[in-house]
Amino acid sequence: MSYRAGRHFLQIPGPTNVPDRVLRAMAQPTIDHRGPEFKALGRELLDGVREVFRTTRPVVIYPASGTGAWEAALVNVLSPGDRVLMFETGHFATLWKQIAERLGLDVEWVPGDWRRGVDPAQVEAHLQEDRGHAIKAVCVVHNETSTGVASRIPAIRHAIDHARHPALYLVDTISSLGSIDYRHDEWSVDVTVGASQKGLMLPPGLSFNAVGGKALAAHGRATLPRAYWDWSPVLAANEKGFFPYTPATNLLYGLKEALAMLREEGLPQVFARHARHAEATRRAVRAWGLEILCADPREYSASITAVMTPPGHDADRLRKVVLDRFDMSLGVGLAKLAGAVFRIGHLGDLNDLSLLGTLAGVEMGLRLSAMPVAASGVEAAMRHLEERARPA
Ligand SMILES: *Cc1c(COP(=O)(O)O)cnc(C)c1O
Repeated sequence: MSYRAGRHFLQIPGPTNVPDRVLRAMAQPTIDHRGPEFKALGRELLDGVREVFRTTRPVVIYPASGTGAWEAALVNVLSPGDRVLMFETGHFATLWKQIAERLGLDVEWVPGDWRRGVDPAQVEAHLQEDRGHAIKAVCVVHNETSTGVASRIPAIRHAIDHARHPALYLVDTISSLGSIDYRHDEWSVDVTVGASQKGLMLPPGLSFNAVGGKALAAHGRATLPRAYWDWSPVLAANEKGFFPYTPATNLLYGLKEALAMLREEGLPQVFARHARHAEATRRAVRAWGLEILCADPREYSASITAVMTPPGHDADRLRKVVLDRFDMSLGVGLAKLAGAVFRIGHLGDLNDLSLLGTLAGVEMGLRLSAMPVAASGVEAAMRHLEERARPA
């Protein structure tokens, strides 16, 4: 392959573009993970990472993809045969459900049409029906990366409380952490699952469990087999800044830098930036005359927009044209959305002009693949970005 000048546009909803500052931070020599220098790094990070989860409680950091942290969340608080309430919001919710099933949990699966988030009223109805409290956990994907639909986490918390049900609340924030407002403590979430390669602007390879007090108590009683994922030895070693195995030291250097960047920009500003870019993207999609997959405006995702292509027009052909001609990767339609949807990732290290470059690439791709384009989406997005100033 010959050199392609300029930077590849990685506009999939994760992994996201890794900023130069993070790449440089990771290029430091690996150190002794049992030495004093690591101890200081470990302490600083284990403390600092709590900020993005908005928690004062422990956050377990695994050298694993997000899938590992999904498994960890389940095996640490549940026992064989426990019933868990899960919702078919899209591909990622379905994958988490499959893990639960393979672990021997009894999944109460609420079907969905992949265009809506979790309905708090449905949560309440299922819990109210469960008078014997057989349901031990409610598992929700905050931002369904396959559909661009964000479930309303505080409203679901309220529904659980309203049903007076003791189930644990487990939330996957893998594609919302660091891009959409999220508050582990304030929303009384028991386990929050996160990963490095989306809003946190890191390469893939780290994932997280933020652990609340009620989850820690459940951990003491839970009997699903657990070894590598067991919180106990990790939390014990973390007390001194260490890990019970060799940590992914260089990714941790990157995490330190990413946390510094999020702190410098300020989380409220980070969320406002994502919301503004998401709105500009939706205006572009509407101007093109295409349909946004998310059916409920209250649930629009600020980190990814899934766009439906008109019947008879293959979304994968569009993605191929955009990749070949403009060196940009767009998100594929997953599972039952294959060919019918393409996804624009607008999360992580992104500014106005990188978003406009992205939208320009999509617009040219639409025309080149002979899709009907009503008007310029780039123009509509530019108008929005001009009118709505960048958050200070
Ligand atoms: C990306 C993603 C995952 C899967 O994480 P991996 O790192 O690929 O294992 C799970 N849930 C959501 C919401 C995601 O966006």
